[in-house]
Amino acid sequence: MIDVINPATEQVIGAVEPGDVEAAVAAARAAQPGWAALPRAERAAHLGALLDAMSAAAPELAALISAEMGAPLPVAKKVQVGLPLAVLRSMIDILNRPEISETVGNSTIHREPLGVVGAITPWNYPMHQTIAKVAPALAAGNTVVHKPSEVAPLSAARLAELVRQAGLPAGVYTVVHGYGDPTGAALAGHPGIDLISFTGSTAAGRKVAALAAANVTRVALELGGKSANVILPDADLAAAVKVGVGNCYLNSGQTCTAWTRMLVHESRHDEAVELAVAAAAKYTVGDPADPATRLGPLASAAQRDRVLGHIERGLADGATMAFGGGPVPDVGYYVAPVVFAGVDPDAAIAQEEIFGPVLSVIPYRDEDDAVRIANSTRYGLAGAVWSASQEHAVAVARRLRTGQVDVNGGSFNPIAPFGGVGHSGYGRELGTFGYEEFTTVKAIQL
Ligand code: NAD
Repeated sequence: MIDVINPATEQVIGAVEPGDVEAAVAAARAAQPGWAALPRAERAAHLGALLDAMSAAAPELAALISAEMGAPLPVAKKVQVGLPLAVLRSMIDILNRPEISETVGNSTIHREPLGVVGAITPWNYPMHQTIAKVAPALAAGNTVVHKPSEVAPLSAARLAELVRQAGLPAGVYTVVHGYGDPTGAALAGHPGIDLISFTGSTAAGRKVAALAAANVTRVALELGGKSANVILPDADLAAAVKVGVGNCYLNSGQTCTAWTRMLVHESRHDEAVELAVAAAAKYTVGDPADPATRLGPLASAAQRDRVLGHIERGLADGATMAFGGGPVPDVGYYVAPVVFAGVDPDAAIAQEEIFGPVLSVIPYRDEDDAVRIANSTRYGLAGAVWSASQEHAVAVARRLRTGQVDVNGGSFNPIAPFGGVGHSGYGRELGTFGYEEFTTVKAIQL
């Protein structure tokens, strides 16, 4: 059994039993042709029943996710549960629209399911990352074998119950618990898997892709990030810094899209740091169930230690800690929020994904320098540009080598394509692009 630990109390709150990948893939293969043969409207109705079951269980799911990975309850409700509900709804919307087959010359082009999807997910947004794969995969007529994170597997176990309760056919969604190696690796290397969709670290994603290559299995990778928040000299600095700090610290910094590098013109650096420190001071650290809490614990002792290691490395490399090191509760895997000022863009803290509440403020000389610094990591997942001119901000956004850019605080769009370039991975989730990721294309010549 694998114990599940509440990171706020350090108490064991449950356990899961490592599953049988062979049996799960066999069940998914057996169920797939029947599921794919259902009319779209019937698959939509099944997913609608799941949406109803999940919506009814939403408060319970939020509490469960908060307990297994430490998100404050309001974040758990709004993001950890609210977002997957919106994503599931968007996939039902796609199914409820008529299927459009394109015509190219004498060919009709059809989108067909791939077969069995292997989904491997991390602990930071356990339900969102699951639904971002399971909803489009099922909508398109695939069946799914899911290996959730061993750190936060309870929400996936509950989802499997809700799938059963909603009356979806057996074998359509199967959860296999276990560690990355051997269970995740067995799934990635299984010849019965047609697409492996992975979210997590770049290191594990690389291994998953190598295992899948042996069977020529298609792969989609959602990996880490080191996103830049580019604040141009004419921007509303107060708004850009406030939103930027909030984005960096969301979910205690355990967000792959977090804007962990704040790029400010050198003439406004000190002012930006002052604003960032004032904003950071408002991020009360504490019990996820306390309404005053804005930062809960990190998800595990290992993650807390990794983040503290990055902070120590930054200090050893000579970075200036403008804010940080404040008190945290004695029990629980807490890290106080940190603002590093005047950070060298090549320093380890500015290059490596920390996955904790750590912001690096980096000065730039001019716009070209800002773009160069923004594009100077191996990652490219998200980012932001702020300017008094939206047109100018969009022009700079187009120069950033990344999958998404928010201009002047543009809000997260759950139907926009989500994914990265470089070490942030490949493939897209969400919306029609996300739906199509789980399909293959057939041309029929007439
Ligand atoms: P991880 O990549 O080790 O784990 C993610 C998932 O992959 C888990 O389900 C895990 O069991 C599985 N996995 C691990 N090794 C595997 C292998 N060899 N084959 C198949 N599956 C495997 O991530 P983690 O240990 O949970 O966190 C480590 C770091 O990853 C974090 O510090 C952070 O930088 C990054 N991370 C990124 C994201 C993201 O959304 N981009 C999410 C979580 C973690």
